[in-house]
Amino acid sequence: MSTCTTCPYCGVGCGVIASADGTIKGDPDHPANYGRLCSKGAALGETIDLDGRLLAPRIGGQNAEWDSAINLVAHRFTDAIRDYGPDSVAFYVSGQLLTEDYYVANKLMKGFIGSANIDTNSRLCMASSVAGHKRAFGTDTVPGTYEDLEEADLIVLVGSNLAWCHPVLHQRIAAAKAARPGMRVVNIDPRRTATTELADLHLQIAPDGDIAVFNGLLAHLAAEGHIDTAYVDAHVGGFSAAVAAAECSDPRNSGLSTEILRQFYDLWAGTEKVVTVYSQGVNQSACGTDKVNAILNCHLATGRIGRPGMGPFSITGQPNAMGGREVGGLANMLANHLDIENADHRATVQGFWGSPTLCTKPGLKAVDLFQACADGKIQALWIMSTNPAASMPDAAGVAQAIANVPFSVVSDIMARTDTGDLADVLLPAAGWGEKDGTVTNSERRISRQRAFLPVPGQARPDWRIICDVARAMGHATAFDYDSPAAIFREYAALSVAAQSFGRDFDISGLTDLTDEGYAHMNPVQWPVPARQKGRARFFADGAFYHPDGRARMVPVAAPMAQVTAGFHLNTGRIRDQWHTMTRTGKSARLGAHMAEPYVEIHPQDAKTLGLGPAELVEVTAGGERSILRALPTDRVAKGALFAPMHWTRQRSAAGPVNSVVRVQVDPVSGQPALKSGRVSAKRFDAA
Ligand code: SF4
Repeated sequence: MSTCTTCPYCGVGCGVIASADGTIKGDPDHPANYGRLCSKGAALGETIDLDGRLLAPRIGGQNAEWDSAINLVAHRFTDAIRDYGPDSVAFYVSGQLLTEDYYVANKLMKGFIGSANIDTNSRLCMASSVAGHKRAFGTDTVPGTYEDLEEADLIVLVGSNLAWCHPVLHQRIAAAKAARPGMRVVNIDPRRTATTELADLHLQIAPDGDIAVFNGLLAHLAAEGHIDTAYVDAHVGGFSAAVAAAECSDPRNSGLSTEILRQFYDLWAGTEKVVTVYSQGVNQSACGTDKVNAILNCHLATGRIGRPGMGPFSITGQPNAMGGREVGGLANMLANHLDIENADHRATVQGFWGSPTLCTKPGLKAVDLFQACADGKIQALWIMSTNPAASMPDAAGVAQAIANVPFSVVSDIMARTDTGDLADVLLPAAGWGEKDGTVTNSERRISRQRAFLPVPGQARPDWRIICDVARAMGHATAFDYDSPAAIFREYAALSVAAQSFGRDFDISGLTDLTDEGYAHMNPVQWPVPARQKGRARFFADGAFYHPDGRARMVPVAAPMAQVTAGFHLNTGRIRDQWHTMTRTGKSARLGAHMAEPYVEIHPQDAKTLGLGPAELVEVTAGGERSILRALPTDRVAKGALFAPMHWTRQRSAAGPVNSVVRVQVDPVSGQPALKSGRVSAKRFDAA
């Protein structure tokens, strides 16, 4: 028997038809992929065995009964809250969680513990886009759809190796380009990647050169009469200040020649249907929010938003980064896109939940959360479905910070991860194919993940583990759910309660889903208003969510070009692995793509360092080091390095390369920079 479900990896959110014997096919009817799958999705059947699975709770390394583990977790959190206050505890969750898991974790921390100390690894993924959307639109709303990518005449890919990181979207664009030879693709990236092969023009910018490019574009559009003044007059504020700031930018900070910039600007200005796709190269930066707004400014100034085939489009990294946003899974948001700082929003959520106490201020964002652990300010920490001891910047420091917390809990599918090895209590979670719920992809499409395998050993779905702990903490009624469908209905009903604030997040049409309806729910894009047909594209009417109904252009300054010794280290993903390899690492086929950790280095730099073919290079920063196989290639610029982030302490003596990424965060979004860390590099001398 086969089951329609959703791929658990990237934010494309492809539909999958899966069987218990491991047979995997793309779902021909799912609107994200229409049957396509990438290498990772196609290999899902090779990752569902029970090797290395955590199949029973463990306390202090010993197997334990669920009741003992749940009671211990509940008591230690309750004691910490009583003795040190609600802000002495924290949850760190994951874009791997399903929306229903995310909803109850957020409800427990914000509505019943009374702290907003719940942040997520999605902070590393799209927090800068969230902040940029809120500044420009008044809410965090992704306006576009995947169909826009096929209708556009120009696609600009910024900081995105789509071919490896969102392969099915890349396939859709490649197919559209093959069918319409007039379609153009521009790739803006400090690296030449597999995505560049599809591009008509590659702008190989300096690290963080994006703002200089888009400020230059805005100044060019203004100087050469390409502004849609009627649209700006009717729908946009902040135009003059944004253009003035753009005119102050020095385009040379992009690292590009005047000629290639002119070529790009003329192409953009002369093409009405432009979609600008951006991803981690934009978001994972100390100026990520400004980068986002520099892009949005150009679309707002030309009215190229809210219409078919045009608009800015942030592509999320994780399968449920969007679902996490919807339920307030970030430390600075409430559920259903409401704001913690707004007393009316807080009162609505508190009244809806019937909660005894609701957080009154934003909580600790990811980097600050682990710093608080290091500083001894967190007494109890629960990490769900993620591996921050390997994936965070300063990964070694984060591991020490977790070890410093008096009581730590990890719920995961695997018995051993770099993070789980540090925990006092391990809770076995059900994995992909074993649990039910929903995820939301990059185009706001809510899809079902469905179980097609038995839950192994004593594992439980995350939503149930969280509710078990909540009930043991004394919140029996509020967490008395019997199914993910019941949680989903409550979450949809909260969207109705939030409607009075004019929020776009509306799934009121889903409040009455029966269990049967939930079981058979087809993929649907929000908003899903009651009694109306949903609309796929936002802002078609020029109405935005700031109080005056207008969008905002935001003045942004380009960072100065850095001339310092050493290298810029960019850490990222490869085609066939997902994050810290807990699942993709099981597939020999996927492992054959890149067998060991490596670092791309320009051939001239390799020569300067005296590196022979396939020799090892030692990359260091802040007292940490990583030993990596050197891969000399002119895909990276001189002075730049690129290394995949997937290998953990458990998989390689090199350890997580993010240990050598020093901490820098975007001051607006709190998203850490992972694309241009300063490091030293030298030939590794084993002696
Ligand atoms: Fe899964 Fe993303 Fe590949 Fe689709 S593109 S199959 S969602 S990893």
